[in-house]
Amino acid sequence: MYEFTHHAATSVADAVGALGEGKFLAGGQTLLPTMKQRLAMPGHLVDLGKVAELRGVEEKGDVLVVKAMTRHVEVATSALVARAVPGLEKLAGMIGDPAVRNRGTIGGSIANNDPTADYPAACLALKATIVTNTRRISADDYFTGLFSTALEDGELITAVEFPKAKLHYAKFPNPASRYAMVGVAIVKGADGVRVAVTGSGGDGVFRWSEAEAKLKADFSAGALEGMKADAAGMMSDIHGSAEYRAHLVGVMARRALSES
Ligand SMILES: Cc1cc2nc3c(=O)[nH]c(=O)nc-3n(C[C@H](O)[C@H](O)[C@H](O)COP(=O)(O)OP(=O)(O)OC[C@H]3O[C@@H](n4cnc5c(N)ncnc54)[C@H](O)[C@@H]3O)c2cc1C
Repeated sequence: MYEFTHHAATSVADAVGALGEGKFLAGGQTLLPTMKQRLAMPGHLVDLGKVAELRGVEEKGDVLVVKAMTRHVEVATSALVARAVPGLEKLAGMIGDPAVRNRGTIGGSIANNDPTADYPAACLALKATIVTNTRRISADDYFTGLFSTALEDGELITAVEFPKAKLHYAKFPNPASRYAMVGVAIVKGADGVRVAVTGSGGDGVFRWSEAEAKLKADFSAGALEGMKADAAGMMSDIHGSAEYRAHLVGVMARRALSES
């Protein structure tokens, strides 16, 4: 590791004010390894760990609010989450391993927008709202590509608001990292049927409109029988070809509906 300065923020206003050219530090699960490898070299870190207003889950009418510094383990074990958005707690429990779930946060996950992360699929399928220190961003506008989001420099995610609905999610994890080779999230809610796919898209998380059309007529695993996604634009790497991932999208979509 190299030398950098560290500021333990005490509030959202303090964090934003102290950032300068630095970076926010949440659970450090992605940022610290990146710094150790010199892939990013911020000279200043603003640690969000002590900002109480960024922790916890709460209900606000028809919405479940998960604050940005809420760790994956807290979502995975929350009775409120399981009641308000059943399935979201299971998704959080599938992230990484216990060490990762004990440190990693929802804010860090969606700020990073790894194309194989789980939360982006939940946000897109549920049409969540990403709340920042300056504005509210619909998930439809938030995820803009590989590791890329609508966040401006210095903008801080304060919470994610999920409309209450059941989340069906199935994931085929990479056996080493547990990141999704393919993860499919399906929701039938106020906004109709939405199917979001992570792990396979060359541009990150995306909606699978062909499956949405089928499920609109018949919301069951059977409606997706024999379907696979289009392999064009899918990631292809040592873990699996584009064709393999396209096939897995169909399998995981059917599994999401039949097993959750
Ligand atoms: C071995 C391993 C396995 C993993 N497996 C999975 C998996 O299966 N599924 C999955 O989804 N994820 C997985 N992850 C990712 C992990 O769960 C974390 O979500 C992710 O590393 C980022 O969260 P963090 O809190 O650690 O953020 P950090 O690493 O602290 O920060 C990541 C980035 O987000 C920025 N940031 C953090 N918080 C905010 C905020 N509130 N507002 C604006 N910007 C912010 C930081 O500046 C930084 O650029 C894995 C990670 C590891 C190391």
